[in-house]
Amino acid sequence: MEFAPVRHDWTHTQVKALFEMPFNDLLFKAASVHRANFNPNEVQISTLLSIKTGACPEDCKYCPQSGHYKTDLERERLIEVEKVVEQARLAKQKGATRFCMGAAWSDPKDRDMPYISQMVKEVKELGLETCMTLGKLSNEKAHELSSAGLDYYNHNLDTSPEYYEQIISTRTFQDRLNTIDHVRDAGMKVCSGGIVGMGEQASDRFGLLMQLANLPQQPESVPINMLVKVKGTPLENVDDLDHFEFIRTIATARIMMPQSYVRLSAGRNAMNEQMQSMCFFAGANSIFYGDKLLTTENPEADADMNLIKKLGMNPETSEDYSDEAVAASLSSQVADKATSELFYEA
Ligand code: SF4
Repeated sequence: MEFAPVRHDWTHTQVKALFEMPFNDLLFKAASVHRANFNPNEVQISTLLSIKTGACPEDCKYCPQSGHYKTDLERERLIEVEKVVEQARLAKQKGATRFCMGAAWSDPKDRDMPYISQMVKEVKELGLETCMTLGKLSNEKAHELSSAGLDYYNHNLDTSPEYYEQIISTRTFQDRLNTIDHVRDAGMKVCSGGIVGMGEQASDRFGLLMQLANLPQQPESVPINMLVKVKGTPLENVDDLDHFEFIRTIATARIMMPQSYVRLSAGRNAMNEQMQSMCFFAGANSIFYGDKLLTTENPEADADMNLIKKLGMNPETSEDYSDEAVAASLSSQVADKATSELFYEA
């Protein structure tokens, strides 16, 4: 068992050395760290709802929601609180324990805050953990969301500081670090990770992991996304990333952030069952469940449950909201191969 301490002083050379270990040695080490910190046969499952879609003023080159690019995406205004609560209630009935709400904004405006806070309060009243991803957050707004009861805030670093300007020009890397600081200062949990396969070098993948691990407090949740190439975005024709590089990224993240949930996020649709299984072995222990991730395709929910069952794994129930009925519901869904509408995503 590798009871690795949580370190915040990783150097580029150390990360490179880990990442470049012989593949089997790297996976063995990552799996050992995983076992020492988590039940390796449990996977945490979240549901994601897009509460405002498209027309985002930011220019993230990977994103179909950016207003800078012409994609087939249908735009939607901020949806009503009642609709969000309705979807959250449905998700809870079907066994969800955390409900994530995402809006394609540069940052939430003052006029949006009463609605957003109301959403958080009402979703929370259902007994669900709440998570939001709304863009940049001032210290004041972070406190407002925290007071409304928001548990997690998602804000990805995306890539290394060195490669960052190739991907986004409308928001700086430091802006992202500031938002994470504000989220921490307000007492919320941080969900932050990045995207690989955007044409970056291996050194950028090391750089991203180093930034995340060396934050004063490591994020509780670390989504690692494989780029989903969307027609109309500047990255639509970028070269595919070798899947072994992706698995190495997951394994290295697990070793460097031993107590964080490492989430296998966007891009799972392009991964076969064996690839996803190897990612679980390498330390990934969280997924989004459902047919869509905000706007990109995600594996069908029944396929997810089928895979979890095949691997003899179980969905984890939230510590804060542990509820035997929820656990039973999830387990029986695994047994029954749940249908895709069980966890709704917009
Ligand atoms: S990733 Fe977020 S901030 Fe960037 S364009 Fe898409 S919705 Fe906007």
